Formats: sequence, structure tokens, C-alpha cells
Amino acid sequence: MYLVIIAILSIALALRQPLDGWVLVRPREWVLLAVVLATILPPLFAAWMARRARAELEDHTDDPIRGQERFATGMFIVQVLLGLLHGSLLLLTGWMRLCRETPTVGPWPLVPALMAVFPFMLSLVLVWIAVYGVDRTIRQIAVEQYLFRGRPVRPVWSLGGYLVYKLRHELLFILIPTGIIIAARDVIEAREAPLMRVHPHLPDILIGGVAGAVALLAPLLLRFVWQTQPLAPGPLRDRLTELARTLKVRCREILVWRSGGAINAAVIGLFGPLRYVLITDAMLESMEDTRIEAVFGHEAGHVRHHHIPYFLMYALLTGCIVSAVAVTTAQHVPRTGGGQEVVYAGLGLLLLLKWTVGFGWLSHRFERQADIYAVRTLALLRLPCSQPDCRLHSDPRSAGDPRHGPLCATAASAFGDTLNEVAHLNGIPPDAGGLRHPSISTRSRFVQQVAMDPGALRRFDHGVTRLKIVLILCTLAACAWAGWKLKVWTLLDAIWR
Ligand SMILES: [Zn+2]
Ligand SMILES: [Zn+2]
Repeated sequence: MYLVIIAILSIALALRQPLDGWVLVRPREWVLLAVVLATILPPLFAAWMARRARAELEDHTDDPIRGQERFATGMFIVQVLLGLLHGSLLLLTGWMRLCRETPTVGPWPLVPALMAVFPFMLSLVLVWIAVYGVDRTIRQIAVEQYLFRGRPVRPVWSLGGYLVYKLRHELLFILIPTGIIIAARDVIEAREAPLMRVHPHLPDILIGGVAGAVALLAPLLLRFVWQTQPLAPGPLRDRLTELARTLKVRCREILVWRSGGAINAAVIGLFGPLRYVLITDAMLESMEDTRIEAVFGHEAGHVRHHHIPYFLMYALLTGCIVSAVAVTTAQHVPRTGGGQEVVYAGLGLLLLLKWTVGFGWLSHRFERQADIYAVRTLALLRLPCSQPDCRLHSDPRSAGDPRHGPLCATAASAFGDTLNEVAHLNGIPPDAGGLRHPSISTRSRFVQQVAMDPGALRRFDHGVTRLKIVLILCTLAACAWAGWKLKVWTLLDAIWR
């Protein structure tokens, strides 16, 4: 769902109103009808899909996977619907203009943008209400299977708790940082003329600066948007702190993330003093400490392999390419005749590809690299090795150092089990892949394959290293180009004087 939310909010951030040539629906009544349709169609579809998934679950109580898969596919279609309908509402109708021209609130910063995305937010909340029942049933089944194994489990959430969780974790988490940037943009653009007298690109540079500051400080914000608290002192905290020290991962705090039942962990923040490791309360309660360490190892892998800075480089680089195309278009394609609209539609498609295909491709590689790091972490924790064909412990040529060289086969299969347990507890089908993560079964198979085949492991490592070098070089080139185009030296000169 994150991607759809980011996409819709980005449209509101990038454009104050759609290009003239795009607008197909202009009369007020028709625009309002489009607003109503876009708002109610996705939840109606979600309600129908949820009923079918629920029936499937009730008919096949012994095999919940089918119901889970139906729900996963249905939610994918709901996301596509939300994205298409609300993207069209913003880009192809006069809705954004109507919001801007609303008396008294229109001229305020941020208000027109929030008003423009309000139907989307309402639609999203209605979708959550529609799928609450089936989502709860799926979680209940997962929980019951675990109750059976004698594990302590959390009670399944209420509708209120579910909505608050979804609002805080999926919507506000993106809306608040984007809202700050949109507000800054509105304020800066209202004072564009005096700022441009100082330097012609000063407004753009200021907006860029605000966006950079928000990205840097986002972890502090998220800590409060998400419901978190420091992990209580105790044996697990000591073990994780010790592990972080061994792995040389600096973080400000290990936080318990009140997730209402979701089994998840994450790391946020670019630098040690502003970095948090988050582990959900449900994960802490239902998984063994060794498995939590395995998950911690995966998150540590993201830190030690610098995945967040590389993602930022990717965003910056592709952002530069898109702006370069936009600037060239504005200069060379005539304003009339529809040429600009075509190029901008192409740019929109480029942006969509950037955040789906490109981002997904990079993310899958980084997930695998973090998984390999997690396997190394488990071996480093001296997990007793029981596999006779382990390349790390049984091969006389191996130095036996889990930080380099081949992977321990026992650690790889233990990590695979951890991944499967996470999927199982979350009620996610093991074969369901996502944009950000490959499917659990692919990930689990991959670590076990490379544990058996050190050559494949080396090839994978070299591939990621090459990718990172290319990313660094291209980003440097793009920054140099942008600095030259924006005539940064004249800005420095202006500030100096
Ligand atoms: Zn990850
Ligand atoms: Zn081993």
C-alpha cells in the first residue's frame, strides 16, 4: 500500500494543478461525481473481495493458504484501483483546481493539497474498514495455530485498534513528512519573486533543502508517529546490544514497536545518532530469542551494507534524470500543440517505472544481501553446526570465519526457518512476493542455495558491488551536472555578498 500512498501524495506535491491539455472532465458537477466514484469504488470492490476470501477461509479451514492468497491478490487489485482512480482524479479532472479556487481556504499553504488528497484518504479508510474482518480472521488462524504450539500470543486487534494502526503506520507515516515539504513549498512559492531576486534558483534550492532536512530527521518523527518505546532492560536487550556492538552497528535506541499483532522489524535513519532499530511487540512475544537475533542480523545487514544511502542515491540520480528531461522539454518543446502534455505523460510513466521496476529491482538485491548478512550473524553467534556438508565448518579449505567466505549451511537453514515463521505468523502466503521483498520461499531458498554453492555467493556479492559502484559514479556525475546547471557558484557568491 505504501507505493500507492506515496504515488498519490507525490502528485499533490509535484503539481499544484494538472496541465491544461490533460484535463478531460471540467464541469463542476462531473468533477464532483468523479470524486464520489473514485472514493466509493475501491472500498466496494474491497468489501466484495473480502467476502469471497472469507468464504474461502471458512470452506477450507484445514488449508488457509488459498484464502490468504485470494486476499493477497484482492488487495493488490484494490491498490491498483486506488492508484488508477485517484491518480486520474488528480491528473485528468479539474478537482485540484477546484480545491485551489475554494474561497477562504484555497490560498492557505498546504490546505488545497490536503483537500485534493482527502477523497483518497477517505477511500483508504473505507477500504480498511471493508477488509478488517477478513484480515482479522487470517491473523486469528495464524494465532490459533501458534496457541496450539503452546506459545504466548497477543489478542487479535479490534476495529478501532486496526484503523489507528493502519492510519499511523501506513498513512501518517508518509503524509506527515510529505505535508511538511508541501507546506514549505507553498510558503516558499508565495515569496518566489523576492527570493528569485537573490538568486534565480533559490526557491528550488530551499525546497530541496527542506526535503533533505525532513529525510534526515524523519526517524525522530517516525518514533512518535509509530507507537514505540525503548526495549525494556533484560536478557534480550543485553543480547541485542552486545550483538549490535559485535556487528559494529550504531543506533540511538532499540525500540519496541506497538504493532497490534504484525510480526515485523525495521531499521530507520542514516546515521548512528539518528538511527533506530524497531522490533514489533508481537515478534518479541511470539518468537524465540535466537530468531529475533536472526531478524536483527538482517536489519544490521541493511545498515552495514549502507542500503539506505544507496536508495537515496538512486532517488537523487533518477530525480536528476527526470528533472533534466523536464527542463529540456520546457525549453525546446512549444507550449501549444500538445507536445508538452505528451512529454509530461511520458515523464509520469518514467516516474512510475522508477518507483516500481527500478526501485523493486534494487530492493530485491539489497534484501538478499541483508539475508546473507543475517546468516553470517547466526554463524557468528556460534549456532551449533549439524550439517556434514557445511562449506564453512566441514570444508578443510575454509578458514572457518563466518564473516567472510562461504556460509554455514545450518545457519542458512535456521534463517530460512525464521523467515517462514515470520510469514506464517503474519498470515502471508510463503509464495507471495512484493515490490520491496522477494517472496519468503524465494529468499529462504536463495540463502540455502548460496550456502551450498560458494561460487554463486561470490558472483552475487560481486554483482551487488558493481551495482553500487555504478550508482556512486552516476550520482556524482548527476550532482556535478545539476550544480553546473543551477550555477551553484553564483549562489555561493550571492550568499557571500
Ligand atoms: Zn529487509
Ligand atoms: Zn556450518
